[in-house]
Amino acid sequence: MNSGKTGADPFAAREVGAALSEKIREISEGCARCGACRKECAFLRKYGTPGEIADAYDPVDDLSLSMVFECSLCRLCAAVCPAKLNPAEMFLEMRRERMRRDPRPFPEHRGLLAYEKTGNSKLFACYALPTGCDTVFFTGCALPGTRPEQTFQLYRKMQRAIPGLGVVMECCNKISHDLGRQVHFQAVFEKMRTCLVSRGVKKIIAACPNCYRMFDEYGRGLSVITAYEVLAEHAGSETLPGNQIIAVHDPCGLRFKEQAQAAVRRLVTRQGAQIEELRHSGRRTSCCGEGGGVRCLSPELAGHWGKEIREEAKGRRILTYCAGCANSLNGLTPTSHIVDFVCDPEATLAGRAKVSKPPVTYLNRLILKWRFRKAMDAHVIRNRGRVTV
Ligand code: SF4
Ligand code: SF4
Repeated sequence: MNSGKTGADPFAAREVGAALSEKIREISEGCARCGACRKECAFLRKYGTPGEIADAYDPVDDLSLSMVFECSLCRLCAAVCPAKLNPAEMFLEMRRERMRRDPRPFPEHRGLLAYEKTGNSKLFACYALPTGCDTVFFTGCALPGTRPEQTFQLYRKMQRAIPGLGVVMECCNKISHDLGRQVHFQAVFEKMRTCLVSRGVKKIIAACPNCYRMFDEYGRGLSVITAYEVLAEHAGSETLPGNQIIAVHDPCGLRFKEQAQAAVRRLVTRQGAQIEELRHSGRRTSCCGEGGGVRCLSPELAGHWGKEIREEAKGRRILTYCAGCANSLNGLTPTSHIVDFVCDPEATLAGRAKVSKPPVTYLNRLILKWRFRKAMDAHVIRNRGRVTV
């Protein structure tokens, strides 16, 4: 019998994109609900196993649409899953579904998006490509802001081995990527990629694990390596006084990149320090709490990750190779960036490495851009310009 009600077709309203539909099916059918990932993750302890979340997903329900923004997208669940599932891929597709249905970002994410927009602006972005340059150092945003001198020294150390090394200062747009703004991300990243490829660039040396991931996944025609692998090939060694024991925090962006993890450890031990590993390291590293913009919507879940790392460090100084991780963890337990350590190991271990905070970070980026342009004065220099989508 026809009830006579009118309005939107309830079945059509529940239709989701093909990629999400496939991920939900894969997780729903493949997840054994064993709980191995739940033991590691406070988000899953709050909402259930990935299989349960897949089964309960309802795209017309506000909670289903918003709760996935509390997942860090860190992929620890994928690293521990005996069924070799990657629930983070499903959660990212769920974020994209939310943005497909309502492209307005959450108000809590406005600050992050403004930060990204600044990195893409004509004022802050810089393409310094020497004639014949086929390799560029992609600085990311956080490292040049917090550590301009160390970033410049890192460039100089690599330039000794790669004389024609160029520099690109721009945001990789992983913020938009992780917030599910896929249309925007693809347009902006593709414009950057096309610009680099058309200028003859073939290889990206990334300082930031997030930039590395974006080029690794989307940089068609561009190979990518971390700055730490390049540095480990060329750095000298010195012996530190005393028996210096530190811990290494692997950023989740490089969770499955064993070569980068090994290179950082080589840089540490070559300087004479010893490493006592955290319980969660390498493939099983923890999120620092900054992943996926979780802190904006759920400071409690974000804080949970950092506290776990602090407990594992037991007071040892942590060295990491992501400026975001370093900033986040240093508020909880002594943490430095590996570039601090490479540039001045003694000052770093004594907690005296120079690290700037906002708003000075913005000024630092402008000054560093000027330094790079000056250092490559005789070469091709251009701004890529702003992209509006
Ligand atoms: S990606 Fe990280 S935060 Fe998200 S469910 Fe997996 S382990 Fe938890
Ligand atoms: S570890 Fe894998 S199989 Fe077990 S609950 Fe998590 S996703 Fe499911």
